[in-house]
Amino acid sequence: MRPSIRLGRLFGVDIGLHYSWFIIALLLFFSLAGHFQIVNPQWSPALTWTLAAITALLFFASIVAHELSHAAVANARGMPVRSITLFALGGVANVERESVDAKSEFWMAIVGPVTSVVVGLFFLAVAWTAGWRPALGTPPAPLWAGLVWLGYINIALAVFNMIPGYPLDGGRVLRSIIWAINRDPVRATKIAARVGQLVAAVFIVFGFFRFFSGADFGGLWLVVIGWFLADAAVASYAGVEASTALAHVRVSDVMSPECLTVDGNVNLRIFAEDYLLRTGRRCFVVYQNGRQVGLVTMNELKRVERDRWPFTTVAQIARPLEKVRTVSPDTPLTQVLELMVKEDVNQLPVIANGEIAGVISRSQVLQFLQTRAELKAA
Ligand SMILES: [Zn+2]
Repeated sequence: MRPSIRLGRLFGVDIGLHYSWFIIALLLFFSLAGHFQIVNPQWSPALTWTLAAITALLFFASIVAHELSHAAVANARGMPVRSITLFALGGVANVERESVDAKSEFWMAIVGPVTSVVVGLFFLAVAWTAGWRPALGTPPAPLWAGLVWLGYINIALAVFNMIPGYPLDGGRVLRSIIWAINRDPVRATKIAARVGQLVAAVFIVFGFFRFFSGADFGGLWLVVIGWFLADAAVASYAGVEASTALAHVRVSDVMSPECLTVDGNVNLRIFAEDYLLRTGRRCFVVYQNGRQVGLVTMNELKRVERDRWPFTTVAQIARPLEKVRTVSPDTPLTQVLELMVKEDVNQLPVIANGEIAGVISRSQVLQFLQTRAELKAA
């Protein structure tokens, strides 16, 4: 989920809000104010509202801490996370790649609930040093009420997240364990997603039951959460299946093996007219004295003024091979797409044994995916 509003950057990770976050922020703020009013009716409205606002902000900071812990483990294990989004039902760390192994998935998933427990215990410990004792029941001092609520809610958050329904953290832990046992990530996801749908169904049924038996709006929240979980379980299964299937496709399956060449002494006007226009290809390997010296594409040509073209040779503008990002015939297609997006290029030379063996272009990859999708649908 991409953030709609960017808040800032923490530890190299963008923190953002999705529009739906405002609904939950307002709801939480008003219900906290209501809670404080009941617990401490002697408080002035100003104190109640201020404390509700501070507590709500600390709650969202706790969620950011939870997501940042996921991001830290993911980054350390080679799954880049560049952003965290807060939305109506919590937070999500936008992992750019699925886990490479079961162990990484396990640690990345479990660190979130562990962080929430630690954060919760921290709030309770602060309340404790301020004199709060669980046996005393209702905390009388303003500071405690917020701290105690934050302590319990973070622990509740950890418990909720450990429900073994994919894509909740508990579901990811379950998936990683099944994956470690049967060594099949796709099947593991299928099983974890099934359990996720089951959990979602329980939420929906129980929510409706509560709603109709007591006209309790809390029941409707359970239905909404269940519906979201069911949706997410199906979507993440489809995503994992697609990227796992793609991981088996290599550059050599898609690239064009023949690579057009051009002599380094050819001038740019001839290159434009006789090579680029006539062949319709956009990438050429430049040879000089029988050696590959570099690569020339439309981009390099465009940087030279048109009236200089007859006096400039291809070798002069070619990008040396060692400065070009390249892939090998064995590179998985998923990595190629990532690289193209990151480097903002439309084609990458394929290098085998130190020589250019071909070119792979973005349109070739997309065409391949489209053909595959049509074959599957047929
Ligand atoms: Zn989590």
